[in-house]
Amino acid sequence: MKVIVVGAGIAGCICARRLSDMGHEVMVVEKGRGVGGRMSTRRMNGAIVDHGAQFFTFRDKRLLGYLQEWRDDDHVVEWYDHVPNRPDLACRSRFRGVWGMTAPAKHLSRALKIEKNFFVQFIKWSRGTWMVEEKGTNGRSLNADHLVLTLPVPQTLELFSRSSFELETKVMSKLMKIRYTRCFALFGLLDRVSSVPIPGTIAHPTPQIDWIADNQLKGISPKPAFTLHASSQFSDEIWNVPDNDGILSLVPVVEGLMQAKILEWAIHRWHFSKPLVTFGESHFHSPDRHLSLAGDGFSGERVESAAISGWEAAESITQGA
Ligand SMILES: Cc1cc2nc3c(=O)[nH]c(=O)nc-3n(C[C@H](O)[C@H](O)[C@H](O)COP(=O)(O)OP(=O)(O)OC[C@H]3O[C@@H](n4cnc5c(N)ncnc54)[C@H](O)[C@@H]3O)c2cc1C
Repeated sequence: MKVIVVGAGIAGCICARRLSDMGHEVMVVEKGRGVGGRMSTRRMNGAIVDHGAQFFTFRDKRLLGYLQEWRDDDHVVEWYDHVPNRPDLACRSRFRGVWGMTAPAKHLSRALKIEKNFFVQFIKWSRGTWMVEEKGTNGRSLNADHLVLTLPVPQTLELFSRSSFELETKVMSKLMKIRYTRCFALFGLLDRVSSVPIPGTIAHPTPQIDWIADNQLKGISPKPAFTLHASSQFSDEIWNVPDNDGILSLVPVVEGLMQAKILEWAIHRWHFSKPLVTFGESHFHSPDRHLSLAGDGFSGERVESAAISGWEAAESITQGA
């Protein structure tokens, strides 16, 4: 079967890889320049910074083969399994990409056909075929027997609306209830090695901050560099303020806790950080419409949940369920 998977985050890449392994002809379509979605790594003046997902855990047996491949091919290593003096944080292996969190998606995509810089503007189901059209003047257009959408669900609904496409009322109302938190991420270069103890993370240092990490201690950055994720409540408070004002209260906390000065910074506003309300099933699959929906909006926040969502969507497609 010919399948188009929209979105090269972990859900899309696992789904595409599984389908491809089972003999389907798969094309992945991604609006970004690279793969990984919210497992995202940025280069900054010689530093490397993970500014989305910070680590992942894989415990589901179905995913362990992929983890082993990534480890064998030096794409992924364990970052840490516990934080000293934090018995409240579970003791379990947290993994990271060797050069940042995009590594698993990059490894999966090696065996896949991917159209990058392809923003899907429009989809159409007609006479047993899906048509997927790119936004803009390039106007690439693809066809397939089955379509998989792995975008954050509000973006899937926008795509439906642009395409005058709807599923049955019960499904649409479940999709419309899915909500995500927002996350204001501040990251940048430091003037010296920070004083954060190994493994290089500080969770919830203040009510405004969920997470601070030292990307050099993490092992991905040759230069001292930090990542800060504001809490969802504080992210909402500063969402619309100009960047310089948004970071005012965060800079002294970073510099105080890390005992280093910020040399250079950037901001990323994650509109769809983690799902608060999910679909309640790992994915949606319609054999009649030849359409599947997957991603963390179905299965719950976390890289592993998104991967399982993609994996199970691929199973439903193959079984024709
Ligand atoms: C700040 C932050 C911190 C996090 N920390 C962790 C963590 O430490 N551990 C953990 O397990 N999880 C963490 N998460 C959650 C985790 O990153 C997500 O649950 C997971 O990566 C979601 O994967 P996905 O494939 O469902 O979606 P995504 O990664 O969002 O993939 C969707 C893809 O679709 C593409 N796309 C969207 N619209 C279009 C379009 N119209 N056309 C073409 N392509 C399109 C996007 O570019 C994207 O690549 C974090 C998330 C954030 C934002």
